[in-house]
Order: sequence, then structure tokens, then C-alpha cells
Amino acid sequence: MYDEIRIEELEVFAKHGVFPEENTLGQKFLVNVIMKTDVTKAAKGDDIHSSVHYGNVCAFISDYMRNNTFKLIETVAEHIATELLLKYNLIKEISVEIKKPWAPIGLPVESVSVKVNRGWHRVFIALGSNMGDKEEYLRGAVSSLEKANGCSVKKVSSFIVTEPYGGVEQDDFLNGVLELKTYLRPYELLELLHSIENAAGRKREIHWGPRTLDLDILLYDDIKMNEEDLTIPHPDMKNRDFVIGPLKEIAPYLVL
Ligand code: ATP
Ligand code: CA
Ligand code: CA
Repeated sequence: MYDEIRIEELEVFAKHGVFPEENTLGQKFLVNVIMKTDVTKAAKGDDIHSSVHYGNVCAFISDYMRNNTFKLIETVAEHIATELLLKYNLIKEISVEIKKPWAPIGLPVESVSVKVNRGWHRVFIALGSNMGDKEEYLRGAVSSLEKANGCSVKKVSSFIVTEPYGGVEQDDFLNGVLELKTYLRPYELLELLHSIENAAGRKREIHWGPRTLDLDILLYDDIKMNEEDLTIPHPDMKNRDFVIGPLKEIAPYLVL
């Protein structure tokens, strides 16, 4: 349950647009922002340093929009949302709406707008390797996640040696679990995990067969999703001691 700090109809003259004239002449944009945060501490101490300074936020948005040029207001809104999430620890969720009252569409319209919602999510990821330098693959995955945009690794479990799972004759595994704070959505995160696996030389040959690196999403906040290519929570996690053990180590408070 969060409080809200809102900015309404901040006016910025900038040059975003698909048409070349828009990039040279510029036009008026209006920005609405809702920042979800907890103002309890700021209110108790009556102290601006414990809150998000909306004057600074407005100045940041105005500078950002005037100093960069994008074709789409989708891009502008997304960049502002993620930049602000990274800049202000106190913002937990944010919505950024960009309106274009002078959009050159040749029809009478009050304005067009795009609104994006972004926020921080808590995710648990399982790591596994059973080929080559297993520890090196797991450490490499932790550091790739730490470096990825919008991701920060909060906790990493010990790595444990486990017997292979799923009946394929192969080398032992090294397994672990980590906690990630991220503003990526589930599919964006899955894509990132696949790219890290691919960079580690992962080949998809036999299901449950040997692999240099396997990264699975175990939990993503409290969401439930059942899509053909993405199931959260991971459907088999509760049957796997090599997942539950490390998960309990870093998050003993979780009720599964
Ligand atoms: P398992 O998921 O049973 O541990 P696996 O990890 O060996 O098996 P992979 O070959 O790595 O399976 O992944 C196959 C596909 O599973 C992925 O391409 C992805 O689309 C899908 N998938 C579904 N749910 C998840 C999830 N929670 N985390 C990661 N991948 C998932
Ligand atoms: Ca797996
Ligand atoms: Ca996998």
C-alpha cells in the first residue's frame, strides 16, 4: 500500500516525433507523473530529504525531454519512468503519461497520449550448471544479472552439488538460487536469461540434459502466470530439493 506524489500537466517544449518537421520545429508536450512511495518518514520528520522532491523531478523530466530526441512518445515515457526509478530509491512504482496536444495528425483532436507503468519487482531465480567450470558459469550469471539494465542482485545462496534430475545419465550439477530486484517484466526477464544462457554457450539438445548454464524464474512477486512458454511460479520447484534448499537459505520467511 503506497502513497502517491503526483505531477500534473508539466509543460515541455521538445522535438520528439516521427515526422522530420517535428524534430526541427518542436512542439508542446504535457507530462503527468504518479510516483508511488511511502511518505510516512518524510511526514513524521517534516523533512524533504526523506521524500521525493517533485521540483527536482520536474527539472529532470524537462531537461531530459529537451536534451534527447526520440520518434515515439512511448520511448520518451519509458525512458523517463526507468530513469526516475533508478534515480530515486524511494519510488517503488511510477506511471508516466506523455500527451501531445499538437500532434500533427490532420484531424481535430484534443490530444493524444501514452502512459507507461513501471515498478520494482522481487524475483527469485534458480541457477544450474553441469558442464565445464560449473562454478565459473554460475558466478558469471550472477555478475551478468548484476550488470544488466534495471537489475540488481540482492542475495545469492551457497552453491550446492546435486545429483542430476530427470533420468538422463550425466555429470552432477552445481545449483543455487538468487534474489533479484528488477523493473523488467516477466517476458523481458526471460529474454535476458536466455541471452545470458546463450552467451555461456548453452545448447538446447536433450530436455533435462547436460547444460553449461540454466536459469529459471522461480517466483516473480506474487504473480501467477500460465503461458505455453512461461509458467510462474516454476511448476516443478516444490519437488526439487536443489531449488527449495537454496531458496530457504536466502528467503526463510517465504511462504510457498
Ligand atoms: P525445467 O523448466 O523443467 O527446469 P529446463 O530448465 O531444462 O526444464 P529449458 O530447456 O531450459 O528447460 O527451457 C525450456 C523453456 O521453458 C524455456 O524456453 C521457457 O520458454 C520455458 N519456461 C516456462 N516457464 C519458465 C520459467 N519459469 N523459467 C524459465 N523458463 C521457463
Ligand atoms: Ca531448469
Ligand atoms: Ca530452463
